Amino acid sequence: IIARAKDLRKHRQSLPIHTAREIIIQEVKNNACVVIVGETGSGKTTQIPQYLLEAGLAAHGTIAITQPRRVAAINLARRVADEVGTPLGQKVGYSIRFDDTSSKDSMIKYMTDGIMLRELLSDPLLLRYSVIILDEAHERTLRTDILFGMVKSIQKQRSDMIEKDGRKDIRPLKIVVMSATLDAEKFSEYFYNAKIMYISGRMYPVTILNTVEPQSDYVDAALVTSFQIHQDEQPGDILVFLTGQEEIESLEKLIEEYAVDLPAQVGKLIPCPIFAAQDSATQQKIFEPAPLGTRKVILATNIAETSITIPNIRYVIDTGCHKSRGYNAKIGIESLLVEPISKSSARQRSGRAGREAPGLCFRLYTEDSFDLLDEDTVPEIKRCNLESAILSLKATGVDDVTRFDFMDRPSKSGMLRSLEHLYALEALDDEGKLTEIGKKMAAFPVDPPYAKVLLQSEKMECTKEAIEIISLLSVDTIFSSPSSKREEANEARQKFTSIDGDHLTLLNTLRAYESMKGDRDWCRENFINSRHMRHVLDVRAQLIQFCERIGINPKKSCGHEYDIVIKCFLAGFFANTALLQPDATYKSIVGGLTVSIHPSSSLFGKKREAIVYNELVFTTKHYIRGVSAVESAWLSHAAPKYFGQRHA
Ligand code: ADP
Ligand code: MG
Repeated sequence: IIARAKDLRKHRQSLPIHTAREIIIQEVKNNACVVIVGETGSGKTTQIPQYLLEAGLAAHGTIAITQPRRVAAINLARRVADEVGTPLGQKVGYSIRFDDTSSKDSMIKYMTDGIMLRELLSDPLLLRYSVIILDEAHERTLRTDILFGMVKSIQKQRSDMIEKDGRKDIRPLKIVVMSATLDAEKFSEYFYNAKIMYISGRMYPVTILNTVEPQSDYVDAALVTSFQIHQDEQPGDILVFLTGQEEIESLEKLIEEYAVDLPAQVGKLIPCPIFAAQDSATQQKIFEPAPLGTRKVILATNIAETSITIPNIRYVIDTGCHKSRGYNAKIGIESLLVEPISKSSARQRSGRAGREAPGLCFRLYTEDSFDLLDEDTVPEIKRCNLESAILSLKATGVDDVTRFDFMDRPSKSGMLRSLEHLYALEALDDEGKLTEIGKKMAAFPVDPPYAKVLLQSEKMECTKEAIEIISLLSVDTIFSSPSSKREEANEARQKFTSIDGDHLTLLNTLRAYESMKGDRDWCRENFINSRHMRHVLDVRAQLIQFCERIGINPKKSCGHEYDIVIKCFLAGFFANTALLQPDATYKSIVGGLTVSIHPSSSLFGKKREAIVYNELVFTTKHYIRGVSAVESAWLSHAAPKYFGQRHA
């Protein structure tokens, strides 16, 4: 243990940020707002909270560090607890949706920005915090942007209470904004021209190689490139940027399959995935050195772009894509889209290869397509559905959301559309005030439509099933369908398939899984992803707990009257409905878009009068996933205000 502590101390002192320790402490002590810019891996996220703690800035409240991603919050808290030398949950903790390890004693708390927004509901001046560090500011997620405005106003309110009202019981709030990209002026301007501090990092040159031809399948291209690097290049690990869990897992399998054919004299190539739904031991693996003579290939989402720095990377494979929340302003549908990254993201990604030595970055796209990328990522607030944001704002007392101090103001039309949808969900009344339903929805740990489903399920007495289906929808998919065994997998799935669609198919699968007590062999034979299933059970447990806490009985069941639960989904997802057309296509009721049922759906190729779906994903066309059949007569009941308006 002592040797480990020594190692950690050495590591801390070797980080580029260490030389700036004193000046950072001084600046934060002397200023209300500070902006810190530093190369990824320089030590901002893990060190600055510790410096401030060591300097006594946690004497009157906790130091909070917000993160856009849960994985990052967990991982960083664990690391910093280790460096501080106390078990996780004592001096250092984390708090993310459905999982809180922090305690009253926590002096450093890593949290998602969503959780901090929720805390605002019960602690409007965030009095438990002395310092709030807004990390990864360059990502400009919706939540970070709202937090910016809220925290800025809280700081002002607290200082007014101290200076104007002479309140002795209130302490001032310090704000630190941290970013990995250089365009920090905007943050500084917004926070009263705060001082910007630049932390220089170490960077070695990275050679960029583009493909000559556009690649039709970047997963396949990444596979080939990984093996080329492994066989031809110097030692050093590979980092592949992919868009999500599904892709990561499919590449992981492919690598394992191909590795069998490597000549005996070539060492192993070990895939190491990282994504949110993993257990922590697996996540920690990406930080452990590969055994001698072998090479790791880390398969990551853009978590590895700036949030988490993985050591020993010399090769980066950049697919040029990421998943981002998109919002189609014309039809008003929100969805997760696989989209091209920005130039600034591409540069961040390639930079990951040059942290410890000169590196190589393989961009799986042509130079021409790089030139066509946007310069910077467009702030999420300009692209996405604002409803959760508006609910949070209203619930924290911001009535006139159109006048909120946004860093980038969302479009008026987007705001109005969201207000309209919230009104249709009965979250807002005729005057735009939060209703009782709206207040409940704002407190729910799920997005407004899901919250509405749960509230409706209380009325219809089927909360058990509603919770189960929502939990099942919280993972990408509970099924596995390896490309080599697709037919077998499809056949296995038939057993669970409900003719009424995916919601009940998922439920059937869960029931079968539970009757087999989650047996792993059974899962394998039936192509059920047991890891995802365990995650589903986790989420279910959390939702049950939440419902109990707010007085909804989570055990109320509709028995076999499944229509009832589908109607509840319709109450939340009435905007995600489509009608069968004479030409056998489906047209969405809102926006009149032609949508195609995804091949993975149990309704693929089926003709039903009307359907409700969980999400819309645009790849080559508008695919809908999580699809169930409904009767068109149910539609007007589900949201009379909405359909009344739209058809008028
Ligand atoms: P920044 O926020 O400036 O990007 P961080 O503070 O996240 O930098 O990381 C500083 C260093 O700590 C990096 O070199 C990284 O490799 C190391 N590090 C962070 N988390 C872990 C971990 N869980 N295990 C081992 N090393 C870690
Ligand atoms: Mg960081």
